[in-house]
Amino acid sequence: MKPRTRFAPSPTGFVHVGGLRTALYNYLFAKNNGGTFILRIEDTDRSRYVEGAVENLLEALEWAGLIPDEGPVQGGDYGPYYQSERTDIYLNYARQLVENGHAYYAFDTPEDLEAMRQHLRSKQNPNPKYDASVRGEMKNSLTMTDVQVKNELEKGTPRVIRLKVPEDRTFEFDDIIRGTVARASSEIDDQVLVKSDGYPTYHLANVVDDHLMQITHVIRGEEWLSSVPKHLLLYESLGWQPPVMAHLPLIFNPDGSKMSKRDIQSLDDLPQGKVDPDVASYIKKGYEKQAIINCIALLGWNPGEGDERQVFSLNDLVAEFSLQRVNKAAAIFDLQKLDWLNAEHIKARPTVELLPDVRTILQQAGIQVNSDDYLLRVIDLLKIRMHFMADFADKGAYFFRDPVEYDPDVLKKRWKDDSVKLLLEFCKEIVKLSPFTASAIESALRELAECEQVGGGRIIHPVRLAVSGTGVGPGLFEMLEVLGADTVVRRIKTACEKIPALKQ
Ligand code: GLU
Repeated sequence: MKPRTRFAPSPTGFVHVGGLRTALYNYLFAKNNGGTFILRIEDTDRSRYVEGAVENLLEALEWAGLIPDEGPVQGGDYGPYYQSERTDIYLNYARQLVENGHAYYAFDTPEDLEAMRQHLRSKQNPNPKYDASVRGEMKNSLTMTDVQVKNELEKGTPRVIRLKVPEDRTFEFDDIIRGTVARASSEIDDQVLVKSDGYPTYHLANVVDDHLMQITHVIRGEEWLSSVPKHLLLYESLGWQPPVMAHLPLIFNPDGSKMSKRDIQSLDDLPQGKVDPDVASYIKKGYEKQAIINCIALLGWNPGEGDERQVFSLNDLVAEFSLQRVNKAAAIFDLQKLDWLNAEHIKARPTVELLPDVRTILQQAGIQVNSDDYLLRVIDLLKIRMHFMADFADKGAYFFRDPVEYDPDVLKKRWKDDSVKLLLEFCKEIVKLSPFTASAIESALRELAECEQVGGGRIIHPVRLAVSGTGVGPGLFEMLEVLGADTVVRRIKTACEKIPALKQ
């Protein structure tokens, strides 16, 4: 049977790194197995409704390339895919559970509940539960007569429907990632399934939908592990087979603390040891999409023991992913890793594909680009040393305009008394070169150095400063070839006029 997986977010605002990882793993697992990836919006908690949150989510999935096969946008045979449009379905099952004795109506007021908790609260029991030990004392359809219940229902008295959790049961299941997990029923409360506002809780809606949508694998964060016993009881009570479960490890800050949303302007303002769980912050900072996804994929998954690969495209991930290789241990979201991956992904992108992006970046920085051929050559030279795409503007501007300043530290260190003489000699040599290639330029420079009895560096460093204004960059000879003889000579002559004055 082909797997059917689902990403089932509750749209409560921003898109969390952990949420994107859940979506990604569900997508990868489905695609790796030729299955179906479903998006279901779990929006039954009206108190947590946030304007625009669904749109945010849909955009994020589209941005990431995790396009659902079924969902609110794509439709599908198992819709609607918004839980808020399925309330009747849940209520029918809730009633069925009550009729079959697996659930019951409870009419307790908030005051009743608080009184019960106050009465039972102790050191041993700091958070008293509504469970088998107390439900016999509360106002519910187990303690009331049928007539009383009917009356209250007809009167419209506020009520909830609760799951009747049996005493002394152990719920055991095999989680793909965590192995065998067992929980005693005494650890669980009589979960509310339908709230007083008539909406189902997450637990009921989630189980009903996973069944009706024929989900085969539930892949989600570890924070949901403790809910599994309730879900298993629901599956059992409804006479259904539960899906296979896989609970993904938690994700922490580098300092080991829980990730929480940061009120920051940019990622540069992050406190030491913290990261921002909001995916939008990473997009805003200019990280490559592939790098963000690659980094998130590695939060808990690796390609296998002894396999040192770290750089993966989404297609690679689809081919490689398996739930068996997801760890139990918590993952750390490490910005240094993301930075490294970002540079790797820029490097890995074909130059022609980078072209339009780099052109836009340069244009935004006010840099005029006249020829795509020339730009392609610049990108080829620079892409292996860019950390961010924006670096093309910061570190590559001199390919498009003559330097107006010279790095004072480099100038102090590298410009010597004989630099003007050596550089003007160098100009005389290179104008003779045809074609003007890196290797020809290098031979000319080495010959000149030998002839002048100086080390190559005595020419190399001042030439770099003269043509680029800085002391770092790509290989000098390749850079000069791309700039072309005219530009190189012009810049050297200008530098020879300006720099000696700056030196004083
Ligand atoms: N709606 C839940 C969430 O927001 C889904 C949990 C699950 O996947 O079962 O994470």
